[in-house]
Amino acid sequence: MKVLKFGGTSVGSPTNMKMVASLINTPDPKIVVLSAMSGTTNKLVQISENLYKAKQTEALGLIEDLHQTYKQVIDGLYATDNYKQKALDYIQGHFEFLKAQVKNNFSTHEERGILAQGELLSTGLFQLLLEESNIPSVLLPALNFMKIDENEEPDTAFIAKQLPADLAQYSNTNLFITQGYICRNSFGEIDNLKRGGSDYSASLIGAAINASEIQIWTDIDGMHNNDPRIVKKTYPIAELSFDEAAELAYFGAKILHPSSVLPAKQKNIPVRLLNTMQPEARGTTISARTSGSSIKAVAAKDGITAIKIKSTRMLLAYGFLRRIFEVFEEYKTSIDMITTSEVAVSLTIDNTRFINEIISELKEFGTVEVDQDLSIICLVGDSIEETSGTVVNIFKSLQNIPLRMISYGGSRNNISILVNTSYKNQALIALNDGVFAKTEQPAHA
Ligand code: ADP
Ligand code: ASP
Ligand code: MG
Repeated sequence: MKVLKFGGTSVGSPTNMKMVASLINTPDPKIVVLSAMSGTTNKLVQISENLYKAKQTEALGLIEDLHQTYKQVIDGLYATDNYKQKALDYIQGHFEFLKAQVKNNFSTHEERGILAQGELLSTGLFQLLLEESNIPSVLLPALNFMKIDENEEPDTAFIAKQLPADLAQYSNTNLFITQGYICRNSFGEIDNLKRGGSDYSASLIGAAINASEIQIWTDIDGMHNNDPRIVKKTYPIAELSFDEAAELAYFGAKILHPSSVLPAKQKNIPVRLLNTMQPEARGTTISARTSGSSIKAVAAKDGITAIKIKSTRMLLAYGFLRRIFEVFEEYKTSIDMITTSEVAVSLTIDNTRFINEIISELKEFGTVEVDQDLSIICLVGDSIEETSGTVVNIFKSLQNIPLRMISYGGSRNNISILVNTSYKNQALIALNDGVFAKTEQPAHA
């Protein structure tokens, strides 16, 4: 069985939804995971923000706008009045739910319920489209099998037990449709896998059923060597190893949710990134194979904070780093980059929830400096340390940019560089000209 995930743009208009319906209309068994239509989750976030501020009239206005948008979608999506009416009735229930959340005492509980409506709407409408087109399929509720635990990590044991049980109820079905992004938490409440989480849903589902392949269908022809939103002349990479792809996703390549590679890697399931608008393009295949050498791609992650701890007590002392790391462990805050000198250690974090507590504990060790609004530029490839010319090119390209920290040699496939976010675009563009223009570009399919 294969898992096919279609993102927001892929289901973002009646034309695109119909294209997806024809793409999946093949006899091989599959689970199709859908995101919300593009723009919907952002609108739902906006509605929630207004409700937090008790701006109820504004929230109701936004709900009404969204309802009108969906009515137009329905008009373009179905051929018959019968199915147009069925779809209008279906969305009516969801918009009534949204309006019922417009009340005082708005909390994260209500917010999560609101955020889940996007995927519930897209999958319900898509299922009706398949029904009208006489394509047999079953709508499988993700809220029944997708679960996170008390640490907000996927409850993979539960998913691996529940999902096959749900599938087994339909022994004659080859096509299942389900929602990405949404799940239940350890209290049984509606929750989600964070923004962009439909990719994560797809890989968790793939791992739970030992799928033969996970396909992520989106609006671009695979993982590009650089961020196409910032840099011109980027190109798709035909093959990446799980480690390379995980690194790029974690360090900001928006095409994949940061955690979505790991479940596939653990089960050795190939992940293919494909373009709904150009289905014949080769895309990117992510697998256990390591291929090629040197730098393949770069990504950037914003919102980074650097912390420098200076202490003369560190000189020749052992156990110092352990005590520093324990502070971060205590506050469940993970560290991305680290560099040390004889009397100081600098490290970066992206979760600043407990920053004040962390700083006050670190002050016991020496002076503490904090720097915000930084970005990690992460270069990913294979056997980087064996290709010294590439490293020279990297630093030549960045010669006009102040570099705050450099991490090299931590693994064979990564160099990370910390810069002020105001230099990020300049750095990505400079690297494209200085490093990738010299790399042989893969031929297009
Ligand atoms: P979906 O809604 O299908 O999940 P996303 O918007 O989440 O799509 O991800 C696809 C987008 O990711 C692309 O349109 C592109 O702008 C952006 N992106 C950022 N970095 C990369 C990269 N290195 N390779 C490809 N796409 C990237
Ligand atoms: N709809 C969710 C979002 O916009 C999940 C996803 O698209 O992956 O973040
Ligand atoms: Mg996405």
